[in-house]
Order: sequence, then C-alpha cells, then structure tokens
Amino acid sequence: MRILLVEDDELLGSGVSDALENARYAHEWERDGKLALAAAQQGNFDLIILDLGLPGMDGLEVLRHLREGGSQTAVLILSARDGSRDRVSGLNLGADDYLIKPFELDELLARINALERRRMGVASNQIKFGRLVLDLSSHSVSLDGESVSMLRREFMLLRKLLEVPNQILSRGQLEAAVYGFEGDIESNSIDVHVFHLRKKLYPEIIKTIRGVGYQLDPALKAEK
Ligand code: CA
Repeated sequence: MRILLVEDDELLGSGVSDALENARYAHEWERDGKLALAAAQQGNFDLIILDLGLPGMDGLEVLRHLREGGSQTAVLILSARDGSRDRVSGLNLGADDYLIKPFELDELLARINALERRRMGVASNQIKFGRLVLDLSSHSVSLDGESVSMLRREFMLLRKLLEVPNQILSRGQLEAAVYGFEGDIESNSIDVHVFHLRKKLYPEIIKTIRGVGYQLDPALKAEK
C-alpha cells in the first residue's frame, strides 16, 4: 500500500509518519491541501490519510476534487473538529473511514489494516498463499507454519505481490511499493530482494516474467 499522509501539524504528522515507517508502508507526507491534491492526482496512492483543517485547501475540498475527478483511492479522514457535521460531510463526499483527534497510533494502524483487507478482498489479517502466510498486522511471514525472518523491504515486496497474486508486476510498480518516493534506487534492487525472498522461502515462489516483471506462482496457491 502506498499512502499519502496529509497533515499540517508537524508533531502529529511526524508521529504518524514514523508509525507508517515502522509498519512498513511506503508513504509521502504533504502539509498543504493544494499540494496534497496535486500529489494525490499524480501519485497513484492506495490510501490517503487526510486532515481536514489545512492551509492551501480544506481537506473536505481536497476530497471533493478527488472524487469529482473519479479517484477511487481510499480516504481516511483525521479531524480534531468537534461535532459530527464534518465527518458526515466527509463520508458523504466518499471518505472510507475517519478518526477523531486525538487518537492512538495503534488504532490508526488497525484501521489502515482494515482498509487494506477490504482492498485485497480478504476478511482476515492473515493472507494465505499456499504454504505461505503473511500477517498484515504483525508484519510476520511463515512458511509451513515456521516463522521466516524478513527484512523490511523484503516484507514490503512480498506484501505487494500478495495484493495482486494473479497479476504480473513490473519492476517500476514494485519499486514504487517498496521505496515510495525515495530517489536513487539501485537499478537491480528489486532483483536482489527477489533473490533473497526465493532463498528464504523457496525458489519457485516468485516467477520471473522475462521483460515484464515478477509474479507469485499461481500454481502454488492451491498447495497445502
Ligand atoms: Ca490541521
């Protein structure tokens, strides 16, 4: 999941940003409504965490522009505002969920997990693929019931492949999921992560589609 965080409060924003980092989500942080709208329109995000009171453009306006423009990106509203009016407006404008400030970071992460499950069409935090299980909330991976230790980027790559197990993902798509907006990515870094994942799990789990990208081997899904 690629996440756009929109929050003008430095302290809260950096707390959320750190929590997203620890939870292994590639994310970008914008502090201004107009800049956030531009980023959301260009950035191909899976989720926008949207504060309402923002410089540049109000969060509800950002949401209105996005939905009028046909964006279906999930939106989770953060609001310090009293009363239910803004929350109702937000939900009516197409927000998917909301949190009232102050909130616990654990609750934010649980709601992100819930939106991620909805996106992946699964009911549980445990994504099963044949002998493999990836837990969205504890960020752990097991194979045949045995825990497999994963580096942060390896986990992010595997989670992305599991999001769309029937699709081939290009290196560019995988880089976006694993590195977000960091520049200067080594050209072979995805191949290196794939190499390590195959070694830690088993070689056939990730198929190389020459000239296109990578895919989880669909034949393995049914394996017990
Ligand atoms: Ca604010």
